[in-house]
Amino acid sequence: MSKFVGAHVSASGGVFNAVENAQKIGAKAFALFTKNQRQWNAKELDGETIDKFKKALQESGILPRHVLPHDSYLINLGHPEDEGREKSLNAFIDEVQRCELLGLDRLNFHPGSHLKKISEDECLAKISESMNITLEKTKGVSLVIENTAGQGSNLGWRFEHLAQIIDKVEDKSRVGVCIDTCHMFSAGYDIRTKEAYDRSWSEFEKVVGFKYLMGMHINDSKAKFGSHVDRHNSLGKGEIGLDAFKFIMNDERMNDIPLILETIDESIWAEEIALLYSFAN
Ligand SMILES: [Zn+2]
Ligand SMILES: [Zn+2]
Repeated sequence: MSKFVGAHVSASGGVFNAVENAQKIGAKAFALFTKNQRQWNAKELDGETIDKFKKALQESGILPRHVLPHDSYLINLGHPEDEGREKSLNAFIDEVQRCELLGLDRLNFHPGSHLKKISEDECLAKISESMNITLEKTKGVSLVIENTAGQGSNLGWRFEHLAQIIDKVEDKSRVGVCIDTCHMFSAGYDIRTKEAYDRSWSEFEKVVGFKYLMGMHINDSKAKFGSHVDRHNSLGKGEIGLDAFKFIMNDERMNDIPLILETIDESIWAEEIALLYSFAN
C-alpha cells in the first residue's frame, strides 16, 4: 500500500481522541488541530496527554509522517502590521512546538493575507521571514504551506506564490507544500480530465517541484472553476467530479504522503476513504 488516506478528524476532549476517530473511519492518515483553531491561546500540552497521544498513534500503526496537523485559522504570517504579525508569529511558534512535543514532523498552514495594505511581494516576503524565525526557534518540524483558492486577499493560490515563499526560506530541508484539490481548482488549475490534470501538475513540477509535496487535501468543490471561492464538497458531488481523484490514487507522485479529506459530510468519510482506496490499482 503506497497511498495514505484519511480525514481531518476531531480532537475534542484531547489530541489522543483524533487517533481513535481516524481509526473508526478506516483512515491510514489524518489531520487534526492540536488546539482550538478559533482561539489565540491554548492550555499547554501536559505530559499525560502527550504520552496518551504517542501511545495511541503507535498502537494504531499510523506513522507520524502521515499525520498532518493544521494550524489555527487566526494566524497570518504575512500580516501587514507589526503587531498583528508578531501575535501570529508567536502563536505559530507555539503550534510548531506542540507538534514537536507530540512527535510529529510537519505542520500545515495557510500562507497569509495582505489585507489590501501591502503588495503581494511584500506579504510573501513577510511570510518567508516569519518562517525563518520559526525554523530558528524550533526543530524537527517542517512548515507545510497550503495553496489557497485566492479568496479575498489570501495569497498562495498561484504556484508562483508558493515558489516565491520557499525561495526566501533559508532552511529548505524543513519546508513543504500541501496542495488542496478544491483550492487548486478554484484558483484556476484544472484537474477534471487526464489532459488538464497532467498539465496542471507539470506546471506544479516546473514552478514548485514534487520534492516539496508533503501532503494533500482531497476535496471536491462547490464553487466553479477559477472562481477563487473556497467551498468544499463531498467527492463526486461538486464541480471537480470523481475522475480527478482516480488520477490521484494512481499517481505515484502522491505516494507516502497524507491525503486528507476535508469534505463537508463527515458521516460519509468512511465511505469516501473506501471509495478512494477502490480507485487505486
Ligand atoms: Zn485544505
Ligand atoms: Zn478550503
